Amino acid sequence: MLERILCAVFGHRYVVERVLNERARKVGCTRCGCKWAMHDPTRTFEPWDLEFEALYAPGGPLYEENRKTP
Ligand SMILES: [Zn+2]
Repeated sequence: MLERILCAVFGHRYVVERVLNERARKVGCTRCGCKWAMHDPTRTFEPWDLEFEALYAPGGPLYEENRKTP
């Protein structure tokens, strides 16, 4: 609870938790534990929920193998 107040005041401590594909990633906050989905083409930044989990899960409609950058 206190963490959420700190984040509201000082902002979240974002870390990339998982690279979903070249244009999308899952980010989390190391302080409050919130998760978001970040999508570059649409500039989307939305709370991570079960729908995102299902979309990007292996075998899901938006799942892509993580390609290593050259
Ligand atoms: Zn936070």
